[in-house]
Amino acid sequence: MAQHCLICDSTVVASKDVTTTVVILIGTLENFLLGVTEVQAPLPENEQHHYLAQMLARISKGVSRATSGYIATQAFANDVQKYQFSHYDYLCLRCGTLFDQDSIDNPHDL
Ligand SMILES: [Zn+2]
Repeated sequence: MAQHCLICDSTVVASKDVTTTVVILIGTLENFLLGVTEVQAPLPENEQHHYLAQMLARISKGVSRATSGYIATQAFANDVQKYQFSHYDYLCLRCGTLFDQDSIDNPHDL
């Protein structure tokens, strides 16, 4: 169920948990693609089995780069949590309101 903003009623609300997952996914994909593009093409292009070897080398380098970059990606995700959400659970992407689950469960305590 989509969360509604407590102020503007928008459904474009990001949760801290989902945002963290998306940030880690994007960081991992970025590192994978950087690793894939690092591999040069020293093999002759006229033999098909060399394409497979080249592709496997690129995938291997991409996985290696994604794995080695995980700590930096996690640190970036922690910064997003800290600076964008602070101690709140949700961020409205329309009006910028931050709120938490307690505010949803007990709206009269605002
Ligand atoms: Zn809002």
